[in-house]
Amino acid sequence: MRIGAIEAGGTKFVCGIGNERGDIEDRVSFPTERPEETLRQVIEYFQDKNVEAIGIGSFGPIDIDPASPTYGFVTTTPKPGWGNYDFLGAMKRAFDVPYGWDTDVNAAAFGEATWGAAQGLDSCVYYTIGTGVGVGVYAEGRLVHGLVHPEGGHVLTRRHPEDDFAGVCPYHGDCLEGMAAGPALEKRWGAKGAELGADHPAWGIEAFYIAQAVSSAILLLSPKRVILGGGVMKQEQLFPLVRAEVRRLLAGYVRAEAIADGIDAYIVPPGLGDNAGLSGALALGRAAWEREAAAR
Ligand SMILES: [Zn+2]
Repeated sequence: MRIGAIEAGGTKFVCGIGNERGDIEDRVSFPTERPEETLRQVIEYFQDKNVEAIGIGSFGPIDIDPASPTYGFVTTTPKPGWGNYDFLGAMKRAFDVPYGWDTDVNAAAFGEATWGAAQGLDSCVYYTIGTGVGVGVYAEGRLVHGLVHPEGGHVLTRRHPEDDFAGVCPYHGDCLEGMAAGPALEKRWGAKGAELGADHPAWGIEAFYIAQAVSSAILLLSPKRVILGGGVMKQEQLFPLVRAEVRRLLAGYVRAEAIADGIDAYIVPPGLGDNAGLSGALALGRAAWEREAAAR
C-alpha cells in the first residue's frame, strides 16, 4: 500500500509517502506560507505518487467533527490566510481518496500508539512542548475528540514560588503554554532553551510546570503511558526532573507500578523521535483506508 502523510505545522509542512507497516519511503518539507501557496506545493508533491489514502495531522484549532458544516477547516488561527480555511476540502478536490484528519498532536499520539512508545497499549497521552504546547489523547483504543478537541496546552498551572514571569499566552498569560513553551523560556531567561546549560535553574522551573500538567493528565485520564515530545523536550535533563516532580505531586496517591517503580519507562520521549507526527499522519491515512474498505 502507498499512503500519503501530511504533518501540517504552523511553521513547516512535512509531506511523505509510506506503507501500512509504518515505513516512510519518501518525504519533503517546506515552510508554511499562505494556504493557497502551501497547498499548491502539497498537491504537486502527491500528484504522481498514486496514494490510496492520505492522513493529515494539522496545526489548529481545526474542525474534526464529521457532522459539522466546517469539518476539515482550520478555524480560528491568527496565521495569515488560514483562519476559516477549508484545508481538507482543498485536498479532496485534488485527490479522491479516503482521508484521515485530526490534530497534529492527536496524530502523533496515534503514531506512538501504533508504532512507537505506546505500541500495544490502548491509551497514551502525547505532549508536544515547543513553540506552543499541545496534547493528543488516545484512550480505550481511539483518539479523543469531544466538544472540539483537547487543548491541554492551555491548562492552568500553580505558579513556582520563585517565578514572577507574566507568561506569554495571548489568551491566558500564565497557562502551561504561557509558562513553559519555548518562547516563554526565551523571554524569561533572555536566551533560547538550547543555549542554557543543562544545569541552569530554568529546567527545574520548566519541569515544575510540565509535571503539573502531566500529573493532572494522569489523575484525569489514567493513561498507560505519557510521551513528551517537541523542541523543548530535546533537553533530555528535563525527563528525570519531570518524573521526580510528578511523583512528588502525586504523593503516592495513584497506586500503580508504573509510577511507584517504573516511571522511567512511563514518562518517556517519543519512540518514533522526530517522525512521530509524520508516522501518525500515516497511521491516520491507513485507518481511513481501513474504514472505507470495511464499509464497502
Ligand atoms: Zn493559554
